Amino acid sequence: MKIPRRNFLKSSGLALGAGLLPWPSYMSKLLFPEGGEMKLLRNNVGAYTNRGGTIAWLIDAEGVAVVDSQFPEEAGDLIGRIREQTDRRIDLLLNTHHHRDHSSGNIAFKEIVDQVVAHQNSRINQENVAKEAGTEADQLYPDTVFEREWSRKVGTETVTARYFDRAHTNGDAVIHFENANVAHLGDLMFNRRFPNIDMKAGASVQRWIKVLNDIRKTYDDDTLFIFGHAGEGYELTGSKEDLKAMENYLSSLLIFIKKEIEAGKSLDDLLNAGLTSIPGAEEWKGHGIERSLRAAYEELTEQ
Ligand SMILES: [Zn+2]
Repeated sequence: MKIPRRNFLKSSGLALGAGLLPWPSYMSKLLFPEGGEMKLLRNNVGAYTNRGGTIAWLIDAEGVAVVDSQFPEEAGDLIGRIREQTDRRIDLLLNTHHHRDHSSGNIAFKEIVDQVVAHQNSRINQENVAKEAGTEADQLYPDTVFEREWSRKVGTETVTARYFDRAHTNGDAVIHFENANVAHLGDLMFNRRFPNIDMKAGASVQRWIKVLNDIRKTYDDDTLFIFGHAGEGYELTGSKEDLKAMENYLSSLLIFIKKEIEAGKSLDDLLNAGLTSIPGAEEWKGHGIERSLRAAYEELTEQ
């Protein structure tokens, strides 16, 4: 099942809990004025979109888990929607990585969550960024970190977090809801949109390509992947085919930049060339090509 980016059913969360057909859209607008959208994907696992990276949620009678938290206000809106379905505490909150649009909403869960989990480098990155920005008081840091793999039962689900290698940062985890077979990739996937490549937080374009390949080998063909971000008109969920396309984007980027470096181009030459896409990966478009050019150039000229 695929979710068009702007097409989440606003009423699905409530309908799920109440066991009713979806409410008329005018009712949903009255109940949920904040603009977030909730969509059930498989079993009791779904996605929430508002402002920031896509959130995944699990709501069942025996447990509640949330993956990523956007910003405090959006996290508050999501918590309100979860409350429409259950008054349970939140058993588990995970972060796919430390960026603010995925973890600054953690603070909204402070009094109601039992465990917060992320990769060990994600926690360090979150601390470093907060210290630098002077926002430490606004953070809820992970209380549990892992190096390679971490797993826990939540209700009827088994939630497994896996770290592959450096990629978009040095702390990106894939969060797999095993029974539903839904895997949240966080910002390892920017679907047809120029990615953020956080060199300061240990990103590696070359390793990112390998990570996507390893992910394709680790999960089966039925796995439904959730993406952190998507370009306008593209979906926030998809399959291994989309991961392959992202691998192609990153490979094309490295090949292109390598050729340009060999031709004597400077980074400024490339940034001022008015490029709108990378040859061989034209589906990736929109704003922010500079981040790709800069990161690949830096990576290929380091040492
Ligand atoms: Zn993001």
